[in-house]
Amino acid sequence: MKGFEENTSATEPMLGRRSLLKLGMAGTAAALASAVPVPASASANVRDDGFGVVFHDDFPQDISPDYKRFDQSQTMFNRHAREGVPYYKAIWDDSRPGFSGSDYAMNKASATLYHRKQGIPDYSMDTVYVPNELSLPTPYKFPDAATAHAQIKRVARHFGANVVGITRRDERWDYSHVLKPNSVSETLPWDEAYPDFKPKTVVVLGWEMEYEALATAPSQIADATAFNAYSGLTYVTMHLARYFNYMGYKAVPAVNGTGLNVPYAMAAGLGESNRMGMLQNYHYGTRLRVARVYTDLELDEYYDKPVTFGIESFCANCLHCADNCPSKSISRDDRPSMYTAEDVKDKPYINPGVRKWHLDGEKCHAYWIESGTSCGTCLATCPYNKPNFWHHRLIDRVNTVLPGPLHKLMAEMDLWHGYGNMFDEKAPAVFWDPKGRSYNGLMKDY
Ligand code: SF4
Ligand code: SF4
Repeated sequence: MKGFEENTSATEPMLGRRSLLKLGMAGTAAALASAVPVPASASANVRDDGFGVVFHDDFPQDISPDYKRFDQSQTMFNRHAREGVPYYKAIWDDSRPGFSGSDYAMNKASATLYHRKQGIPDYSMDTVYVPNELSLPTPYKFPDAATAHAQIKRVARHFGANVVGITRRDERWDYSHVLKPNSVSETLPWDEAYPDFKPKTVVVLGWEMEYEALATAPSQIADATAFNAYSGLTYVTMHLARYFNYMGYKAVPAVNGTGLNVPYAMAAGLGESNRMGMLQNYHYGTRLRVARVYTDLELDEYYDKPVTFGIESFCANCLHCADNCPSKSISRDDRPSMYTAEDVKDKPYINPGVRKWHLDGEKCHAYWIESGTSCGTCLATCPYNKPNFWHHRLIDRVNTVLPGPLHKLMAEMDLWHGYGNMFDEKAPAVFWDPKGRSYNGLMKDY
């Protein structure tokens, strides 16, 4: 069961039952004064109860003035699908831990909602969900933007999201062209795909992958927790889109289609970009899958702020993901870099114009196919993905204020404690005991 008290982004305090009831009754200014996230009016560089978290007024990555919106048909999966390259091989082997027929079936079944369109991976566009005859006759007006902000987040958690951030629609992070339904090649310009829909707000949602399952990566079990997260996000996004419909607003649910999850999640204050070019969340590290809901509800200036908490410095000194990547797809550069269109002309699946660490999706996907999994070794090896024990959280917080060279020491300590070496037989943390189904003393029954 997902822990309600853990359902929090870096910026949100907990609400008790009494406060929730107040919010449910549309809230009062008094109830909200202590119950809402840091508002857009808060100045940059303020630190709140998320120790070491710095808030920013602007997007915290360097973006080239020449940046162009990415065309969805160029993503690695769609390029490979057009070339007849499989998503990955179907592999099961009852003699191999994490690959039994049952593990394989659990993985496939976990994707049931996510792959609902055809029963196979499909990232093409979702249609605009519109109000219906049971919707409010005129769009619901929240008493104020702060109430709207807090209540939308509570509704998203009610549907199962672990973290929620709310940001403005930013066209830069939407695909220039989106794939037509059930297609891997035919596209429509974004505005033609969604005629008569002018989104103002994007709600960004995160769903936790289970630590113990992910720690077995690469395996069918690790895949199962990833696909379970995607199916969960499919459920959340569809229900949240309907919530907006019943209030009288249009919405588009988007898990991996329509636009880019990582920059939207960063804009919504859900974390930083890490060495893998993925989202590093303050509470869950790399163990989140992310999705969005676009809506034409306007929240005035009441949006979450981007945050940083020292990930760039830590990643500069930690190479666990790159060291453990079996396909050597993750950058080993000291610092993030910005590619030009010319730099990536032979790798059109890489999005140029953003200063970040880049991942080579083609090499990565080649390993997926070979391993019969979507791998996830890099996610599992990251020191920030630990379960919610106090000593792990304490270390995360200390890391936010340590100077760079000490991050190297902290990364090494993770290895000394038996974490991080995914393919090292001396590190039993990543191996299953197929008889007892025990994992490193933590997992008794899966
Ligand atoms: S998923 Fe696996 S192959 Fe791909 S970047 Fe991560 S570790 Fe490397
Ligand atoms: S494993 Fe280390 S380098 Fe890679 S994302 Fe995590 S902290 Fe950064």
